[in-house]
Amino acid sequence: MGTVAVQGLCKSFGKVRALDGVTLDVPDGAFFVVLGPSGAGKTTTLRAIAGLDKLDAGSVHLDGRDATADAPAVRDLAMVFQNYALYPRHTAYENIASPLRARRRPAGEIAAAVERMSGLLHIERLLHRRPAQLSGGEMQRVALARALVRSPRAFLMDEPLTNLDLKLRVEMRTELTRIHRSLGATFVYVTNDQVEALSMADQVAVLREGTVQQVGTPTEVYERPANQWVAGFVGSPPISLLACHAEGDRLVGEAGWTLPRPRWATAADGQALRLGLRAEDLSVEQRGDASLPGELYGLEPLGDRTVVDVRVGTEILKVKARPTVTGTPGERLRVTVDLDRAHLFDAGTGLSLS
Ligand code: ATP
Repeated sequence: MGTVAVQGLCKSFGKVRALDGVTLDVPDGAFFVVLGPSGAGKTTTLRAIAGLDKLDAGSVHLDGRDATADAPAVRDLAMVFQNYALYPRHTAYENIASPLRARRRPAGEIAAAVERMSGLLHIERLLHRRPAQLSGGEMQRVALARALVRSPRAFLMDEPLTNLDLKLRVEMRTELTRIHRSLGATFVYVTNDQVEALSMADQVAVLREGTVQQVGTPTEVYERPANQWVAGFVGSPPISLLACHAEGDRLVGEAGWTLPRPRWATAADGQALRLGLRAEDLSVEQRGDASLPGELYGLEPLGDRTVVDVRVGTEILKVKARPTVTGTPGERLRVTVDLDRAHLFDAGTGLSLS
């Protein structure tokens, strides 16, 4: 078993409210990602689960048992940090074996565990080397193997891929999901990288200023963001948000444009709204009736696609286009909108109305 549940966690450092009532339920065997910007309280949440800080309020339950008062050592959790140094004088094998040696496990068990973990991380041929003879990425794999070689109740991971270059990071994302599947262990994984979160998680909790904004599958968080802030934080390029209000069967933009009011839009006439449009739901090719007038502001070629920035009034829309798209800044164009996939938020509360 490896369920982790926290309820109403509160923690302040002086005047800073790092956690303001954080409640999370991590099922056994989940790859649970806590996603949020710097300072959102992600590390503080992990430290609370591990029992490293005294809480102002709230409880931590492990496998259904109240562990709030338990010392870190008896919680049976492994914490994996961004920087986890290897012992320089020891071989990779010795490094990976060290947590089991410290627990005085039998030699046969240690050998089997190191073999299994090095197989999962593809580092079998590096086991005789010392850290100085390994590349940065290889060191990180050895360090991960060392962290994962134990079988604790759950692994708490604090941005463990941050120090890797992009290519390795992408590779390690795949490895980690594979390892997670084969270990069947509970992972609570903290990151500020939404791509990492969306690509690895079974469930994502989005944290902002010490409060949970939404918990859901990556698809739910992306497709049905609970509020404007989550919509803006998750997705790249960021969702475009246009100020508007409803008027009968139309949505009327502050910039003067109008669009047919989507069937699902429950807003009251005159209510201040934000229309959220993702880049992939917009097109600079004429495709449908619903479209917005604008002018080309800039092109951002990204290899497999180009992001076209279109100015609509004073606002910029980000539109995903083919890599071959061309245009001159200032040129007038229309942006076709897939209204069925649009999002609508209350401008005051930021809450989703879709
Ligand atoms: P990052 O992604 O930058 O690591 P985070 O989401 O993990 O950020 P936390 O480290 O949990 O954020 O910090 C939450 C808030 O609490 C921040 O404003 C931080 O400055 C503050 N904080 C955290 N630890 C301490 C501490 N020991 N003393 C004072 N303030 C702290």
